[in-house]
Amino acid sequence: MSEGVKREKYSRRGFLGMSSAALAAAGMLPAAAAEQEQKPYPSKDDRSASAPGPGNPAVDAQNPDSFLPPPTDAGGVQTFKYPFGLSHKRMQEGGWSREVTIRELPVSKSIAGVDMRLTAGGVRELHWHTAGEWALMLYGNARITAIDLDGKSFVADVTEGDLWYFPTGIPHSIQGLKPDGAEFLLVFDDGNFSEYETVLLTDWMAHTPHDVLSANFGVGEQAMEKMPRREKFIFQSAVPGPLVEDQKAAAGSLGASSQDFAFRLAQQPISKRSKGGEVRIIDSSKFKVSTTIAAAIVTVHPGGIRELHWHPNADEWQYFMSGTARMTVFATGGRARTMDFQAGDVGYVQKTLPHYVQNTGDTDLKFLEMFKSNVYQDLALSEWLTHTPPQLVIAHLGIDKATLDALPREEIVVMPE
Ligand code: MN
Ligand code: MN
Repeated sequence: MSEGVKREKYSRRGFLGMSSAALAAAGMLPAAAAEQEQKPYPSKDDRSASAPGPGNPAVDAQNPDSFLPPPTDAGGVQTFKYPFGLSHKRMQEGGWSREVTIRELPVSKSIAGVDMRLTAGGVRELHWHTAGEWALMLYGNARITAIDLDGKSFVADVTEGDLWYFPTGIPHSIQGLKPDGAEFLLVFDDGNFSEYETVLLTDWMAHTPHDVLSANFGVGEQAMEKMPRREKFIFQSAVPGPLVEDQKAAAGSLGASSQDFAFRLAQQPISKRSKGGEVRIIDSSKFKVSTTIAAAIVTVHPGGIRELHWHPNADEWQYFMSGTARMTVFATGGRARTMDFQAGDVGYVQKTLPHYVQNTGDTDLKFLEMFKSNVYQDLALSEWLTHTPPQLVIAHLGIDKATLDALPREEIVVMPE
């Protein structure tokens, strides 16, 4: 019996002999469920699945689960993918920046992301913003500066794999170092954030009368003449000198801040490892200053899967670093959508919605799970089912006891065990 015929037969098995279409017409089935049930699902080679009109084979090849969704997908689910490659790149001498915010990806209400490049010497100018900023160094080397709430200075050098966090309203800067500057990912605890709307030192000065600046600083007005007339945002400057000299000069008589705004990820032990992969969880229990952003950095080996799970406390913002993946978000009410991901893509899952992330390639899949929270929380389907009375689970799922006994009894995170 062909798949199509089987489904046709199943679809005609209605309540009290009524077809699902008749049930829907009688108002006894939600429309989406009826639609799903009555359709025989076309296979890949079926004429029903063909797309003879205009198309973009490159986009289709990268998104096989949109081109031919799995039969389990159904109903309208808000799009939860946006590639950084589609974002506007704000080009400057000294580097560039691009962002994925609620404007690019409407579902992403709680978190926005920025991908930024700085050349050696290139500066993301002194600034602050209303959102908290979590960062991961993706490439190269950079020097970051800030002051704490006591006005004490913080200056540090960061390299690939390092993190930093600057709380709301804390002023800071980033500058690329030798040999080739840096690229980094910024994650903000507000989907509405934009790099276009930050408090910039030069922008502020350009919009303050010079006689006020003169009175404020107690220096002559002519000293302000060379101040920029508009914001710099990113600009090319000279590569800074040795770190200790900058630290000493910035500390002055107050001394350096006792707070560490940077975090060395490489020195952090792996939180969980299995045959399928590994995960590092970094929240405020380890990275003290990061009180509004929690992170999991996940590696899934080929053939592995980040198991079916959900997060009770926060939406999940994802950034794909390498490999390829697919994820289904089950959006309740019979709705589900599967989308495909690759390096540079942003994904999003709303709070409590079930999902998995499967490695679809033959190389390691690496991605970030980011949460607007001080703590990381998740629950796995397997641990739920194995810590519920067995007869109750069997009565729901129609599986036998041996199958239930075979399920992992604790959260594995990345399967296989
Ligand atoms: Mn910033
Ligand atoms: Mn998740």
